[in-house]
Amino acid sequence: MRRLVIASNRVAEPGCQPSGGLAVCILDALRKRGGLWFGWNGEVIADDAPTSVTSRKYDDLTLVTMPLTESDYKEYYLGFSNAALWPVHHYRLDLARFTQESSEGYRRVNDRFAEELAPLLKASDLVWVHDYHLVPLGAGLRTRGVRNAIGFFYHIPFPPPDVLVAMPEHEWLTSALVEYDLVGFQTKTDQANFCRFVCDFMGGEMAAPDVLRVSGKTLMASVFPVGIDVDSFIAMARSPEAAKRIQRVHRAGEPRVHIIGVDRLDYTKGLPDRLRSFKRLLEIYPQNCKAVTLMQIAPPTREDVQAYADIRHELEALSGEINGQFGDFDWTPVRYIHRNVPRETLAALYRGSQIGLVTPLRDGMNLVAKEYVAAQNEDNPGVLILSRFAGASEDLQEALIVNPYDADEVAHAMQRAIAMPREERIERHRALMARLRERDACSWMEGFLRALDACSLPLAA
Ligand code: UDP
Repeated sequence: MRRLVIASNRVAEPGCQPSGGLAVCILDALRKRGGLWFGWNGEVIADDAPTSVTSRKYDDLTLVTMPLTESDYKEYYLGFSNAALWPVHHYRLDLARFTQESSEGYRRVNDRFAEELAPLLKASDLVWVHDYHLVPLGAGLRTRGVRNAIGFFYHIPFPPPDVLVAMPEHEWLTSALVEYDLVGFQTKTDQANFCRFVCDFMGGEMAAPDVLRVSGKTLMASVFPVGIDVDSFIAMARSPEAAKRIQRVHRAGEPRVHIIGVDRLDYTKGLPDRLRSFKRLLEIYPQNCKAVTLMQIAPPTREDVQAYADIRHELEALSGEINGQFGDFDWTPVRYIHRNVPRETLAALYRGSQIGLVTPLRDGMNLVAKEYVAAQNEDNPGVLILSRFAGASEDLQEALIVNPYDADEVAHAMQRAIAMPREERIERHRALMARLRERDACSWMEGFLRALDACSLPLAA
């Protein structure tokens, strides 16, 4: 088996509890195959301090990490990655900020990563680069003579060509992207957008399904929807601790219907629209007053980027407005929690909620939707309401699929979920669970690695 080398913006610590199913699977695969994980260690150091690489070995797994300087953090991370690439890839040109400084920072950090990683590679390694922070890393490795199979996975959406071409650096970025042997996407829509870009704007062609030929080289562009670790989530949701937490939330006198939303406080998640939909539910179906509560967990994220501070103010104003207008001394319609909640607690909250409300305006996949389904009691499951613009909606068609921009449509879906007979809920839940099991976190990873293995170049002599 070839050694696996993973490069991602952040590296998970094997000693700490990894925060998601993906990190667990990646660590497992690295341990099984023997491997190396390369990336930022999360530290930000002064501009004049040395950015030296640290290498740590845990049996067959090696972690190689480096810090970012203050300028790197500002330009590469907050700037180009999160204030330019992130909004553009989520179709939000209006929020994108392009500066010369940030694009130089992005190139500089990717170049430094390539410079440090290239000498660590063996000829037979499979190299897998993750996400939008590191698009040009593969090209940087090629420039340094690396001939290995290199794959890239886009965890976020890939925008339609008309959106992408509005980005000043799009030609450079896409020419770096086609240097990979395999580019993986979350959904068919993302894959189709990429293929259309390569064919219409780069003079490429589809040589076969999933195979592109462009600038004299061939690459694969395939779909690998990210999944969750289903069994570990079920176990968390069924634990005695979870049962105690659910009881605490469902104290006597509390509303009978609990709706839950869990999202980083990001403008892509459609949180203000969600609150407006909830307000419409109370207006159109007033019988829900005092009977329904929306708990919105929205931990802070990237607060140094202006658009994130703006969305926070908007959300706080809206939840205050709804609570002021509809609330009573014995009922708070919206419970808004602005901090990170541990996954064990989330599992219990999902299980104790009759509706999971997942309505992003655009989302690569959305794991919360899958976690909500996995956490349900199969004999009396809750209903998932899911945005058609979440990658997860391609797979989870038995959810109530909604347009998050249409507040009335979402309000009607909430009412439908509240009134849905148990048999229908069980039937939908069973179908959704089958989908989760077909495509879990580890099958995602194995599928990608199989495809990357298959497009390996002959080993260098
Ligand atoms: N999450 C968490 N605590 C929180 C909020 C979210 O552990 O307070 C986890 C959640 O369980 C999920 C992940 O963060 O696994 C969010 O993934 P998702 O794909 O839904 O959205 P992203 O944040 O990656 O855009």
